[in-house]
Amino acid sequence: MSKPIPYSCQDISEADIAAVAEVLRAPFLTQGPAVPKFEEEFAALHGMRHGVAVANATGALHIACLALGAGPGIRVWTTPNSFVASANCARYCGATVDFVDIDPATRNISVEKLADKLALAAEDGSLPGIVIPVDFGGYPCDMKEIRELADRYGFRIISDSSHAVGASYHGEPVGRYADISVFSFHPVKIITTGEGGLCLTDDADLAAAMRKARSHGITRDPTEMDSEPDGPWYYEQVGLGFNYRLTDIQAALGSSQLTRLAESEARRDLLARRYDDALASLALRLPPRSNDRTSAHHLYVIEIDDARTPKTRREVFDRLRDDGISPNVHYIPIHLQPDYRRLGFAAGDFPDSERYYGRAISIPLFPTMTEEQQDRVIASLTRALS
Ligand SMILES: *Cc1c(COP(=O)(O)O)cnc(C)c1O
Repeated sequence: MSKPIPYSCQDISEADIAAVAEVLRAPFLTQGPAVPKFEEEFAALHGMRHGVAVANATGALHIACLALGAGPGIRVWTTPNSFVASANCARYCGATVDFVDIDPATRNISVEKLADKLALAAEDGSLPGIVIPVDFGGYPCDMKEIRELADRYGFRIISDSSHAVGASYHGEPVGRYADISVFSFHPVKIITTGEGGLCLTDDADLAAAMRKARSHGITRDPTEMDSEPDGPWYYEQVGLGFNYRLTDIQAALGSSQLTRLAESEARRDLLARRYDDALASLALRLPPRSNDRTSAHHLYVIEIDDARTPKTRREVFDRLRDDGISPNVHYIPIHLQPDYRRLGFAAGDFPDSERYYGRAISIPLFPTMTEEQQDRVIASLTRALS
């Protein structure tokens, strides 16, 4: 039997390999020119001023939280329907995490539930300092509404756009409405650098704070120093930072991948539309679509519509596996992880995320997927649900 069709897969071209090989022959493997070049290209593509490349999106979320003041006594709210990193970043800073349930139609943080929770928090003085919406599957969140709430209640926004490279919202690339937007370049995501992440912001001070946090809290800018430099070698550590740097090898791969972003997004969109058409009559809920935003289609998540079929998620999942397909499930609600239950969260806290989780399957979608492969997935699902 041929090897299983994965739910996601990187696309590495000969040009990508040549770009990496070129850096390997050059003087700088890290801290060289490829990193700022990639940062500028990625920021320009999103119409944003500053890009800060990081070793991975988890580190990017961490330094974004720190730059926006996360720390003991600060509350950070996110969605349960995400990878654990969206919540862990707040805990790295000593902040307190809480969640807002999803809108079942979009699987993203619900603006109505966010507004309700903020109104209650305003009454008892427990407002969040930061809210982290997640563009689940690459489908942008309701950022205009979240920005209005942020301005009204005084919190900052980190958009976890790890899935949403290339997505657009009201005709513009994602990134505009958040204080900081974070992207991931893990191989399963839209573009890859092996491991890698990036923070986008229009705020020069936030960008400078994140650059320092990325590299040990060290500055070489005399205006930020306590003392006069005593020579050209001089630097100061002005805060506590980390080594979260992306290498030039990775950045070169990222720049090369970016040149094919439009092409690979078009391919993802075509495959997503083929799924939309082929699966429309099955007892499934399909990913959201809207005229005011486009998904990057990182994931194609189907939900078993239990009102229309007795088949369980497990049965359908197993059927796909038996047919040589490797589906996945995104996500086990973060608050149900043992490490979060220990903080006091419990089953029933966020019922829409829990119900969604019980029905969801991520089926294969990646730019190098062939139509023959996709037809195998469609045939398997059709058999499983009939
Ligand atoms: C992948 C992912 C992350 C973490 O990304 P890494 O680059 O692997 O650290 C964070 N948030 C979401 C929503 C993700 O999917």
